[in-house]
Amino acid sequence: MPVPVFDGHNDALTREDHSEIVQGRSGGHLDLPRMRAGGIRGAIFAAFTPSDGTARKPVPRDDGVMEFAPAPRVDRRVATAHAARVARRLLALERAEHLRVARTAADVDAARDGGPPAAVLHLEGAEAIDPDLEGLDLWHAVGLRSLGLVWSRPNAFGNGVPFIAPSSPDIGPGLTGAGRALVRRCAELGIVVDVSHLNEAGFWDVAELNEAPIVASHSGAHALCGVSRNLTDSQLDAIGTSDGLVGIVFACAFLRPDFADDPDTPLELIVEHVQYVADRIGVTHVALGSDFDGATVPDSLGDASGMPRLLGAFLDAGFTDEEVRAIAWENWRRVLKTCWSDSA
Ligand SMILES: [Zn+2]
Repeated sequence: MPVPVFDGHNDALTREDHSEIVQGRSGGHLDLPRMRAGGIRGAIFAAFTPSDGTARKPVPRDDGVMEFAPAPRVDRRVATAHAARVARRLLALERAEHLRVARTAADVDAARDGGPPAAVLHLEGAEAIDPDLEGLDLWHAVGLRSLGLVWSRPNAFGNGVPFIAPSSPDIGPGLTGAGRALVRRCAELGIVVDVSHLNEAGFWDVAELNEAPIVASHSGAHALCGVSRNLTDSQLDAIGTSDGLVGIVFACAFLRPDFADDPDTPLELIVEHVQYVADRIGVTHVALGSDFDGATVPDSLGDASGMPRLLGAFLDAGFTDEEVRAIAWENWRRVLKTCWSDSA
């Protein structure tokens, strides 16, 4: 049996209806057959609403810096409908017993021990939540256990970091009053507050407001790839101090020192980011957050079925079996349990 993997971020249900996820499909990265092949027994499934008209390719500036056009805000009604669609797909998969929506750490354990895969429902950007937070308890009751305040754009809660390379993530102001209230209420309900896509000022607001472990579900190390989306050393240190984790993203443009969105990228670069974070803040604070179906990933990994190759690359790099199991599963399991244990 392959080493169990918990993957901290995918967009499969944002893109595909549930029947495609069950049967498998050509193209894309993640479906149930490929999760089985890759040993992915648990995963965080994002509900993400794209901005209209967002440029898909970065525009080089005169000074050589690459920058995406700023992503416009999305309307709350559009985001709410979109998030409901993703939740419907996830609940349909659960009803048919293809997977289990993970609401407790015991659900995650059951998936590791041979039950259906555990799927954590995540909002990538909180636009579907009203600024008065009237809808949040409803989402929690449905199974929401993870929430990113923002995608890479502003909303009622804060400011996402735009894609700029090279650039510090210190772009724009911190959380709004509604954003601060959302962090507090997530902590009370036991919902992970995910800082991937959040700008640096917002990150420090979360670090101050939330006593739970800080979670960056799909990010890289800024020291190795200086794109605005990655985490600086001081951010990594704060994550380590909080007993949180970084799920290392597989997006080529956030791994490579040249920022190229090029699938001809060795999967050893993923290992290098993991190694960097492990060396800096400890191997218990680094994990995996692929961004399958949301990014260009290395061809040498391919898709969700390639996870055993990646785990082999960790062993080749000198990680022990125990460390690989921590990176692949145990670290996510520990942090989710701590974040979910509060209830109000
Ligand atoms: Zn993302």
